[in-house]
Amino acid sequence: MSDSKRKIALVTGASRGIGRSIATSLAKHGAFVIINFSSSPDAANETLAAIREVGGDGELMQFPVQDSAAVDKAFDEIKTKHGQLDILVNNAGISRDGLLLRMKDEDWTQTLAVNLQGAFFCGRAAAKLMLKSRWGRIINISSVVGEMGNAGQVPYVASKAGLIGMTKAMAKELASRNITVNAVAPGFIETDMTAALDEKVRAEHMKAIPVGRYGHAEEVAELVSFLCSDSAAYITGQTVGINGGMYM
Ligand code: NAP
Repeated sequence: MSDSKRKIALVTGASRGIGRSIATSLAKHGAFVIINFSSSPDAANETLAAIREVGGDGELMQFPVQDSAAVDKAFDEIKTKHGQLDILVNNAGISRDGLLLRMKDEDWTQTLAVNLQGAFFCGRAAAKLMLKSRWGRIINISSVVGEMGNAGQVPYVASKAGLIGMTKAMAKELASRNITVNAVAPGFIETDMTAALDEKVRAEHMKAIPVGRYGHAEEVAELVSFLCSDSAAYITGQTVGINGGMYM
């Protein structure tokens, strides 16, 4: 990251898993990190402890990303307190899996609301602040299944594919102001989300991953930190896969 002035970063869904690793990595690279979460203050505090362990600093901010008014209030607070936001990582995500014919309306609306609408609300609010400072990095955490599809995950896949399109449109709008917007599409990563999968499903996954293992959240986090750095200024509108070769 650059390196001259301390960057302010917001990572949504940073109380666990990939979000926690991204928050820690950004802090390790010098950013002050705002740790968003929805329902787990204890876990979010553990993220803050992890950040301090690497010599960084941050703070907690609880809000549900799918609530437009709550997002705007949070960004007002960020503006008042920090005067700027340089980095936004839209990481908060949920998955409601099941066969299409058994999927309820609510599975669709909730998944799209958190994964896609939440990223839109936060991206719009962040762009407002970034346009003022004429520098910014927005990273949307998509998924390999948003690129290749997956049975049993219609709403999740739709939300993750939607993030890829939104990334490109936002990248085109914001490029001239030094704001880059990229999507990162992880394959299967060891977190609570994948821990819920049974052994049979995991064994099937292994057959499809040339590298022969699930990824680590830290590996995703280092990629995100690179995309947030000054060195990545010429990368925008891209979907960068990190999937052990599962999708090429
Ligand atoms: P996770 O362990 O289930 O953590 C999800 C995080 O999102 C938690 O911090 C949770 O906060 C937060 N969250 C959930 N709903 C929220 C809401 N409405 N508002 C704000 N925060 C909310 O997930 P993960 O595996 O680390 O995944 C992180 C991201 O990577 C997700 O977008 C996921 O789709 C994507 N991804 C994951 C994998 C994988 O294999 N794990 C692969 C590809 C993509 P609380 O604790 O407060 O609920």
